[in-house]
Amino acid sequence: KKQLKKTCLDMHALACDYFRGMLGSPAGKDAREYLARRTLAAEMVDGFSLGCSDEDWQGLQNFLQKKGFSPAQAVEAGLLSRNDAGRTYDRFRGRLIFPIHDLAGRIIAFGGRIIKDGEPKYLNSSDSPIYTKGEHLYGLYQARPAISKSRRVLLTEGYVDVLSLHQYGFREAVGVLGTALTADQVKRLGSLCREVVLVFDGDNAGRKAALRSAEMILAQGLTCRVVLLPEGQDADDLLRQSGAEAFAKLLGQAGDGFTYCAECVRATGSAREVMDFARRFLRGLRDPAWKAFYLPKLAENLALAESELRQAIASEREERPSGNNPVGVKTQVKNLPGLPI
Ligand code: ATP
Ligand code: MN
Ligand code: MN
Ligand code: MN
Repeated sequence: KKQLKKTCLDMHALACDYFRGMLGSPAGKDAREYLARRTLAAEMVDGFSLGCSDEDWQGLQNFLQKKGFSPAQAVEAGLLSRNDAGRTYDRFRGRLIFPIHDLAGRIIAFGGRIIKDGEPKYLNSSDSPIYTKGEHLYGLYQARPAISKSRRVLLTEGYVDVLSLHQYGFREAVGVLGTALTADQVKRLGSLCREVVLVFDGDNAGRKAALRSAEMILAQGLTCRVVLLPEGQDADDLLRQSGAEAFAKLLGQAGDGFTYCAECVRATGSAREVMDFARRFLRGLRDPAWKAFYLPKLAENLALAESELRQAIASEREERPSGNNPVGVKTQVKNLPGLPI
């Protein structure tokens, strides 16, 4: 098992060399033009080890084979795909390549954006012995020093959003990698920071994702704030169009995550949805003791009677046996402003 992981890591390191080499070669012309069009700085291309793949169906496969790795091994690592007829082929073709690092700086997966037109726009590695979807965050390795200093994370949706934020000096930026934020990811962030600032796209999907993510972050006892981007813009769009100061201003105006959740739910939800949210929110809290803090807050922000809310949750059975609290709850509690401890 350990050997298998080592083999996968070795193949990823080689694949990264292959993609980077291609970006610097004649075959990387389209990708370089694409980077220039999006004004991504060379410093970001280097710092995040960006690369590219051409349209070849066998390029990486041949490269890895020359280095002593079989197509079967490369399929298992998530670098090649296999069709129904059993033929193996390069998974990433015609794409700008974003390596995904673990906290030790090792490459464990790739994301790829289509350079010309085509579907899907983004493609990620499939799960492998070294990569499980929903466990990692894009750019966390690069952002870690800045996060350690400020104890804050800027969480965004896209690869390019992360790169642009870093390029404009917001070096605590990390990306969620194409899925809904998971509890695993939040726990990972919780070990590095106290506050997560959501910088999701200014569209319905982004606002909805921000609601779910804020819930998840608050449930783990972290502070959460939400940046509201202009309609139709993501962090990358805003920075390119309006610059770092404009983003800094929105960051300063970012509202409290709990208030954001409550307002979203009140604005869009029926009475039933409001109650469902309140119950789900309370049920999700990592430490049941935090209920005492949130019950009156929920009642007030959702215009519910506290007694009604108490009754609703009393009818649910205790979901968490006592003595099951994870370590570190004490320090986490302190992170909740105004929580009586
Ligand atoms: P770009 O600016 O390059 O056009 P984006 O990052 O703004 O793209 P969005 O459509 O806003 O793209 O999606 C946000 C993120 O969600 C992407 O960066 C990617 O990580 C992920 N994503 C989007 N579409 C897909 C997809 N089809 N498959 C997997 N992940 C995707
Ligand atoms: Mn979007
Ligand atoms: Mn974008
Ligand atoms: Mn976007």
